[in-house]
Amino acid sequence: MPDDMDRATALTEAHHQESLAAVTRRLRQPGTPDCEICGEPIPARRRQEMPSARRCRPCQEAMETRRAR
Ligand SMILES: [Zn+2]
Repeated sequence: MPDDMDRATALTEAHHQESLAAVTRRLRQPGTPDCEICGEPIPARRRQEMPSARRCRPCQEAMETRRAR
C-alpha cells in the first residue's frame, strides 16, 4: 500500500536524521572546542599539538598570514 510505503520512508528518514544528530552529539562532547572563526570542531591532533588552540589550522594560518603583513 502506498500509504504504508510513505510512512516507512518517513520513519526511515526520521531515524536517519536522529542517528546523524546522535553522532554529532557524540563528536561534540562537552569540552570539545570549536574553531572560533569557522565554528568547526578543532581536530584532536591539533589539540594535542597545541592544547590552547582556539582556531583550526586553516583559520590560524589565515590569521597569521594576515598579521604578518
Ligand atoms: Zn576554523
